[in-house]
Amino acid sequence: MAIPQRRTGADACPGALDVHRAADGGLARIRIPGGRVSGEQVRRLADLAVDLGDGGLELTSRANLQLRGLAQGAEVELGAELAAIGLLPSLTHEKVRNIMASPLGSGVLAAELDAAVCAEPRLAGLPGRFLFAVDSGAGDVAWLGADVAAIPVDGSFAVLLGGVDHGVRVAAGDVVAALVAVALAFLDVRDGQWRIAELPDVGGLARRFAPGVGRLAARRPPTGGPVGPVVFADGGQGVGAAVPLGRLTAEQARALGDVVVTPWRGLVVRGDLPGGLGLITDPAAPGIGVTACAGRPGCHQALADVRALAMTVSTPGRAVHWSGCGRRCGRPAGDVLDVVAAETGFLVDGVAVERVAEAVARGRQE
Ligand code: SF4
Repeated sequence: MAIPQRRTGADACPGALDVHRAADGGLARIRIPGGRVSGEQVRRLADLAVDLGDGGLELTSRANLQLRGLAQGAEVELGAELAAIGLLPSLTHEKVRNIMASPLGSGVLAAELDAAVCAEPRLAGLPGRFLFAVDSGAGDVAWLGADVAAIPVDGSFAVLLGGVDHGVRVAAGDVVAALVAVALAFLDVRDGQWRIAELPDVGGLARRFAPGVGRLAARRPPTGGPVGPVVFADGGQGVGAAVPLGRLTAEQARALGDVVVTPWRGLVVRGDLPGGLGLITDPAAPGIGVTACAGRPGCHQALADVRALAMTVSTPGRAVHWSGCGRRCGRPAGDVLDVVAAETGFLVDGVAVERVAEAVARGRQE
């Protein structure tokens, strides 16, 4: 059950212009609603990563992209370049364009929702953590931690609030308006909370839209995205790939065409992927489902170089997330083995361990 919370102050989510000052330089987060980004945009981002950042593109657990290692003031040039390639359509709303969509769906509703969010001035006041999700019916993103999510059910769409179905149903043509209406209603009732699940009475918010009868049972979100051959909802063929530790090199990015970034720090393309890129397309390969925060030396708070460790510890099987401290940045939703660096040693699923590699291997065999 969600614990009602009241936050103090604004959240500190980075944006494309409002960069976070990390130990390795500026960190800019670029929202790409629905994870959709064209080949031209990816290639330009790769150039920007080389020219302004540390040469890589990070994939986030909300299917956005990040550049890091930016020099002080580089966000000015970055913002102008992003605007030129259509990745900064709104200066006022850029940090609230948090929209996940099923990677194999059409992405049309996500694009329409993005336009509607940017067109509603009040939504610029949403907390940066507020998250929309549009599920194609696959059930892959509806329960992935969104504040408000739409998923087709029995000829209409269910609108979930804080991951719970309170019985809100809308026609297909009203989905975007309903998601915007819920976000506006959240702004009306919030008292410092950042997320719908933090409200003391989510059911009360839902009753503004429906009688309040829940129907769909909550589902466990998947802990991994498509890897290997895929079929899109429109019947098109493609390939899903895991990106090792969620970081694309500029060379890898430049070789891609249009891509869909997934919330599992992977990507999906139509047709074939160019070979020899080092992306993982074998669902049985080690490294699938292994994620890590920036850790040392990128983050001031980090107690360990967790990315290096994550690359060396053998981890077939269950998903695992390595964090350099207790904040657990970027931890995916769902059943993930939780490895956290502590002042002395590591915690694995909350338990202090002496030999982290062995403990991780044991945890993954359970
Ligand atoms: S989890 Fe801690 S160490 Fe990792 S990026 Fe977040 S604040 Fe830094």
